[in-house]
Amino acid sequence: QIEFIQALSLPGKKPPKEPELSEKERKKQSIAETKKSLPIYPFKEDLIQAIHDHQVLIIEGETGSGKTTQIPQYLYEAGFTEDDKKIGCTQPRRVAAMSVAARVAEEMSVKLGTEVGYSIRFEDCTSQRTVIKYMTDGTLHREFLSEPDLASYSVMIIDEAHERTLHTDILFGLVKDIVRFRSDLKLLISSATLDAEKFSGFFDDAPIFRIPGRRFPVDIFYTKAPEADYIDACVVSILQIHATQPLGDILVFLTGQEEIETCQEILQDRVRRLGSKIKELVILPVYANLPSDMQAKIFLPTPPNARKVVLATNIAETSLTIDNIIYVIDPGFCKQNSFNSRTGMESLIVVPISKASANQRAGRAGRVAAGKCFRLYTAWAYKHELEDNTVPEIQRINLGNAVLTLKALGINDLIHFDFLDPPPHETLVLALEQLYALGALNHHGELTKLGRRMAEFPLDPMMAKMLLASEKYKCSNEIVSIAGMLSVNSAIYYRPKDKIIHADTARKNFFVPGGDHLTLLNVYNQWEASDFSTQWCYENFIQYRSMKRARDIREQLVGLMQRVEMELVSNPSETVNIRKAITAGYFYHIARLSKGGHYKTVKHNQTVMIHPNSCLFESLPRWVLYHELVFTTKEFMRQVTEIESKWLLEVAPHYYQPRELEDSTNKRMPKAVGKSRAELGEH
Ligand code: ADP
Ligand code: MG
Repeated sequence: QIEFIQALSLPGKKPPKEPELSEKERKKQSIAETKKSLPIYPFKEDLIQAIHDHQVLIIEGETGSGKTTQIPQYLYEAGFTEDDKKIGCTQPRRVAAMSVAARVAEEMSVKLGTEVGYSIRFEDCTSQRTVIKYMTDGTLHREFLSEPDLASYSVMIIDEAHERTLHTDILFGLVKDIVRFRSDLKLLISSATLDAEKFSGFFDDAPIFRIPGRRFPVDIFYTKAPEADYIDACVVSILQIHATQPLGDILVFLTGQEEIETCQEILQDRVRRLGSKIKELVILPVYANLPSDMQAKIFLPTPPNARKVVLATNIAETSLTIDNIIYVIDPGFCKQNSFNSRTGMESLIVVPISKASANQRAGRAGRVAAGKCFRLYTAWAYKHELEDNTVPEIQRINLGNAVLTLKALGINDLIHFDFLDPPPHETLVLALEQLYALGALNHHGELTKLGRRMAEFPLDPMMAKMLLASEKYKCSNEIVSIAGMLSVNSAIYYRPKDKIIHADTARKNFFVPGGDHLTLLNVYNQWEASDFSTQWCYENFIQYRSMKRARDIREQLVGLMQRVEMELVSNPSETVNIRKAITAGYFYHIARLSKGGHYKTVKHNQTVMIHPNSCLFESLPRWVLYHELVFTTKEFMRQVTEIESKWLLEVAPHYYQPRELEDSTNKRMPKAVGKSRAELGEH
């Protein structure tokens, strides 16, 4: 039992006498009626008029008012796609682009990928016929490379602008420039929150079109004391709501797939044990890597007399609107990419959300009726520990990829690029330095031939470099498989709680000397040898969907390799070359063994450790390369490969000095120095 205290209510109008539509009624409602019920609908004519009157328009409206799904359709009906031009709409998140495109295709009764389509990294679901195209902001950023004036678009909507992702921020500068010489292009900046004034200022005082919200009051509750384990607190709160509150669906905000799965398992287990003592609880997860058929389930109406619980990442904060949510549970955290420009270290960490985010989350409970938001932190913490606003991504992440794309667009002077909020100077300089070290820029800061080829790939510059270096090391066939596997950002290995020992044994059977990159290659190759079999995945505790995605990504990359005239060559017996090619891209990510099984990064002397899931966890080689750092209890290196220090002088002579790489001993440390998994408290 968790004790909550009520603090305040978000204002809103009184609920109507007959609160919300019953599920049956809702089902009966045709799509047309649903569309008419959206807050944006009464403003349709005015909005179109405003778009005719102004080249740039800022649109502000609360989440769920219909901006993303309706505006492109209004524009289509108003004839903006005549003369063979498209309406583009960017989304910060992949899932949102896919889900919204699917919804709009349904509303327009067309097949997804025909008139209505989407395009995300590694996946293009559009055709010649596509007139409404949803895409991620990153995809549009890349489209500039092939179409710098966006000639095929009549309208471009930069949607969810308040999210302030890196790509959205860069797009602001790019589109602002384009509207100056393409007077026929309409630009809409749409946002859910209060940044409208700021956007308007940036776009030379463009007018703001406000869609009045229709929000019902939301009562906010805080915990009396801080919660030590917020997953457990979520489970308890869900069951508490289910047992004591009137029907109405629950939305829970968690930080990522793993957490969602853990929460789902615990919840399912408790529900099973409670048996028929409680009403039916439909538990649905939603996160970026969830297959789209599963994602679609969150939008299905809740069965009568049951309650739906949606376990979601930040995606449900503003990008996706799930109808009929009455209760929100907010533990107050999200996962954020963070970058230390002093050390050049990047890692994914769980951080407290901002007040602005907390209020967005709470608002999700008041869309269809009066709602309740349970914050799993104290009122004191809200007041004193949360920042007012989330820092825009451009000010806190590595800019390597963005800088490479901008350079490829011919924008050389990045210091004077028109940023809404400029990135810190050091971050920009560091990105330039890194691209220089990778060989993508020359000492004048101009793109080299290698840099131009790297920019062809929608990859982090380090990975692009690794791929291009594989040509020289005659192992491009192997490296492209590794790149595909590394780019799947969901788990490859399946580890069900009731079969942990079997799963871990299966995983260890894939281990090969050299490290995790070669192990991933081994998994891929064995799967290929099984003819990409589902059964094989099942027997080896491998996630079939992740593998399929790795194969898709691999195919895309092979296509791009052909474009830059790279041959697919193979040298399966030679693992040193494969590891050298990886090092040629990732020589920034090197650590050396120091005392007590800890590692120190070579350039910045930061303490890091091998992740317990790595195949090198127990062997502790002297020199390692890592793909990424994740911070949980400590700074862990994930996807680790053993290298020899002399390779660094071979692949990055301008970056490493022989002195830095001196080895007092080349011997391995004894096994006993490694800490056990249990000691690390990690699984
Ligand atoms: P906004 O962009 O203003 O936040 P949206 O256009 O995303 O609003 O949402 C408008 C409505 O469309 C919401 O009621 C939402 O529930 C509904 N909707 C969006 N996507 C789907 C979907 N995939 N299935 C069913 N309904 C959806
Ligand atoms: Mg939207």
